[in-house]
Amino acid sequence: NREQFVHSERLNVVSELSASVSHEIRNPLTVTSGFLQLLKQSTTITNEEKRYIELSLQELHRAEKIVSDYLSFAKPQSENMVYSNLFTETEYTKDLIIPFATMHQVEVQFHFTNTLFTRYDRNQIQQCLINLYKNGIEAMKETGGGTLTIDISEKKQKILIKIQDTGIGMTRDQISHLGQPYYSTKEKGTGLGMLMVYSTINKLKGSIDIESRKGKGTTFLITIPVLEA
Ligand code: ADP
Ligand code: MG
Repeated sequence: NREQFVHSERLNVVSELSASVSHEIRNPLTVTSGFLQLLKQSTTITNEEKRYIELSLQELHRAEKIVSDYLSFAKPQSENMVYSNLFTETEYTKDLIIPFATMHQVEVQFHFTNTLFTRYDRNQIQQCLINLYKNGIEAMKETGGGTLTIDISEKKQKILIKIQDTGIGMTRDQISHLGQPYYSTKEKGTGLGMLMVYSTINKLKGSIDIESRKGKGTTFLITIPVLEA
C-alpha cells in the first residue's frame, strides 16, 4: 500500500532529523552559555542586566537538560538496530553513570548473566538505561546516598533488567503518573526521562513493573522478549 509506504518513510526521516537536531542544538547552547558567562563578569553592567543574564543562563540550562533526557545518544544515522548482547549496553551505561553516582554517595552494584542476545536500537536503549539509573541516583541524592543495584538476567526467552534504589520512593499516585509528558516532582526536572523509557520499552514489546515504597526505595523491573537475529 503506497500510502503506508510514504508514511513510514516519513517516520524514518523524522527520527533521523531529531538525531541531527540534537547535535545541531548542543553547539549553539554551549556557545551562547559561554558568552553569557563572560558578559556576566563584566563590571560595567547593572544589577538588573546581570539578572537578565542569569535568567537566560537558567533557560539555556533547561534546554540542555531536555536534549540530555531525550537525545544524548542519538546519532545522525538511519539505522541503529543491532542484534547484540544487551549486557554491552547495561555495562557501558553503568560505567558512564559512576561519576554521577560517586558525586552523590551512591554505590553501584552490578550483577549479570552473559546470555542476553536480542534485537534492539542501541542508542535508544542506552538513553533509556541512563534515564533510569539517573532517576535512581537522584532519588538517593536527597537521602544522602545509598545503593543502586542493577541486575540483568535471562529467563524463559525473556531478558530481565532490574534497577533498584534505596531512595525516597513513590506513592501509588506518583507511580500512576510515570511516563506522562512533563510529569516531574523535581525542582528542575524535565519530566521527559520516563516518557523516553516507556516509549523505548514499548517498541521492544517489553513491560515495566514498578515496586516502590515511600521512604524505602524503588525497583523497576523491565522485561524484554528475546528476538531472533
Ligand atoms: P525528571 O527526572 O526530570 O523529573 P522523569 O521523567 O525522569 O523526569 O521522572 C519523572 C518523575 O518520576 C520524577 O520527577 C520522580 O518524581 C519520579 N521518579 C522516577 N524515578 C524515580 C525513582 N527511582 N525514585 C523516586 N521517584 C522517581
Ligand atoms: Mg529523570
